[in-house]
Amino acid sequence: MRIRDILRVKGASVVTVPPDTPVEGLIRQLAHHRIGAVVVSRDGVTVEGIVSERDVVRTLAERGPAVLAEPVSAIHTSQVRTVSPEAHLEDVERLMTERRFRHVPVVVDGRLSGVVSIGDVVKNRIDELETERTTLADYITGDRT
Ligand code: AMP
Repeated sequence: MRIRDILRVKGASVVTVPPDTPVEGLIRQLAHHRIGAVVVSRDGVTVEGIVSERDVVRTLAERGPAVLAEPVSAIHTSQVRTVSPEAHLEDVERLMTERRFRHVPVVVDGRLSGVVSIGDVVKNRIDELETERTTLADYITGDRT
């Protein structure tokens, strides 16, 4: 399975925030959309960074509540790993496991075209395994149509 197959089902919309958004506003966005990370972008298509709930928790623990008034750009990750829609699900799974992050933006020709979360990866992996299991069970029991 490729990333484009996942995006076909879940859609290409991505929540973004401009870099000057206060961290307090970022938290409201995360809560409102019930998501764990947003892409930092001024124009909504160019990836300038990524910021997740982990960045908020870590900097709150390090610097205290003053962080809430700081811009997102003060806590985001600027070296973002992205993938193309042609990437294989297994490769993204490996990337997330090795680099220990749970979100990967999808980019085509420098333009943000979706995001894949660890939840999407796990869901699609389970679906894949379930289909494989059913096919094998049908094959073994001779229940092929
Ligand atoms: P996450 O597991 O996605 O909540 O993110 C854990 C850490 O990795 C945070 O510091 C994020 O800013 C960073 N991060 C998340 N996704 C990416 C990515 N695709 N590329 C680089 N860093 C990321």
